[in-house]
Amino acid sequence: MNEKVNMKCPQCKNIVEISSEFKPFCSKTCKNLDFLNWANEEKSIPMPDDSTSD
Ligand SMILES: [Zn+2]
Repeated sequence: MNEKVNMKCPQCKNIVEISSEFKPFCSKTCKNLDFLNWANEEKSIPMPDDSTSD
């Protein structure tokens, strides 16, 4: 049985081909972008607060 499942790229929301080698991303670019986001969060750099509301 060949079940076709359409996946959506978590990065750009494009449809990802089930045979994509970059699953669950649509392309290498999106895969790299996600990794960069993850890496940035891991470092948890304290963000300088520009808009001081107090
Ligand atoms: Zn994408």
